[in-house]
Amino acid sequence: MANKGFNAFEMAQAQFDKVADLLALEPATRDLLRFPLREYHFAIPVRMDDGTVKVFRGFRVQHNDARGPAKGGIRFHPQETADTVRALAMWMTWKCSVVDIPLGGGKGGVICDPHNLSQHEQELICRGWVRQVARDVGPVRDVPAPDVMTAGHHMLWMLDEYETIHGGKYPGFITGKPVGMGGSLGRTEATGYGVVFTVREAFRELGIHPKDTVASVQGFGNVAQYAIELYHQMGGKVICVSCWDQGDQKSYSFRKKDGVDLEALLSITDRFGGIDKKKAQDLGYEVLPADAWLEQEVELLMPNAIENQITGENVRKIHKRVKVIAEGANGPTTPDADAVIKERGIFMIPDFLANAGGVTCSYFEQVQCN
Ligand code: GLU
Repeated sequence: MANKGFNAFEMAQAQFDKVADLLALEPATRDLLRFPLREYHFAIPVRMDDGTVKVFRGFRVQHNDARGPAKGGIRFHPQETADTVRALAMWMTWKCSVVDIPLGGGKGGVICDPHNLSQHEQELICRGWVRQVARDVGPVRDVPAPDVMTAGHHMLWMLDEYETIHGGKYPGFITGKPVGMGGSLGRTEATGYGVVFTVREAFRELGIHPKDTVASVQGFGNVAQYAIELYHQMGGKVICVSCWDQGDQKSYSFRKKDGVDLEALLSITDRFGGIDKKKAQDLGYEVLPADAWLEQEVELLMPNAIENQITGENVRKIHKRVKVIAEGANGPTTPDADAVIKERGIFMIPDFLANAGGVTCSYFEQVQCN
C-alpha cells in the first residue's frame, strides 16, 4: 500500500479496461464502471484520551449500486488513500456480481493506525465516521462491514451511532456484527474458509489431492487464520506464514518445514494478526525476510494480507513447484505480475472469487436482519 509508484485505483482500472476490451463493452457502460458512482471524503475530529483533539481522514466510496445497495468493508490503516478505497470499492462490485448476490460495491476507510489507539479512541472514530455519512448509507443504500483492522465491535459502535441518528432499529445497516447482536454464525470464518473452498475446487480441476500439498501464506489476520485452519483439516500443510511484527515495525516470514502449529502461533499473535518474532524463534520457527513466503517450495501460495504484494519485482521468485495461487487479500497481485503468473501456467484464483465468502455470509446476515 505504501509502495512508491503503486496506485491501486489505476491498477483496478487497468484490469477493468482489459476485460472491457474483451467484452467490447459499449462506451457509456465503460465510462460508468471505470469510476465510482459517488464518494465521500471527510474529517473526523476525535478527542483523544490525553485531552488533545486529533483529526482523522475518512472515506466512503460507492462504486456501483445497479445490482443492489453498495456493499463492502471499512479499513483502518495508516496508509489508506482515496485511491485505495476507490479500487477496493470497484473490486467489491465485481465480487458481488461474480457470486451473484444482489449487492453493489462499496468500501470505506480511515487513515489511522489502531495499534496506537485505545478502544475508546477507536470507538470515537467509528462514531465520527458514521456521523459523516449517516444520510448516505443504510440498509437499502450502502451496507458497511469489517475489513483490515476492523472487527465486530467496531460494527456495533457504528450501528449504535446510526440508530441514534435515525431514531430506530436498523440491524441491516451493517454486517459482521458479533453473534448475539444480529451477527451471523460463521461470518468470522467465512472469508478464510471461502478461500480454501476455491482452492479445493482448483485442486480438483488440476487432479491434485490436498493431502499431497504444502502451502505458504502471507498474512496472519482473520482471513489467513481460518484459511490455514480449513486447509489443515483438508490434509494440507502450511510451512510458512508472513506477517507484521509490531515491535520491529516490519514484516517477517516464519517458517517451520514440518508444518506450522496454528494454535501455538495464535498464542503469540496480537489482535491484528502480528506475530512476535522472539516468541516465534522460541517456538522453533526460522525467521526469514518479509518476501520469503513467496519463494517457498510449495504447491499453493495464499496472499491473504493486503494489495500490491506480488509485483513485477518479486514475481520471478515464485518457486517452480507452485501450482495454485489463491488471492485471499484484495488486489495482492499487480497486472505485470499477473502476466508472468499466466505465462508460467500457474492456476490463479482471483481475489474477487477467492475471498468472496465473507461478503456472501454478510448478505445472509443482512437479509436475516431486515
Ligand atoms: N471486507 C470484506 C471484503 O473485502 C467483506 C465485505 C462485506 O462483508 O461486506 O470482501
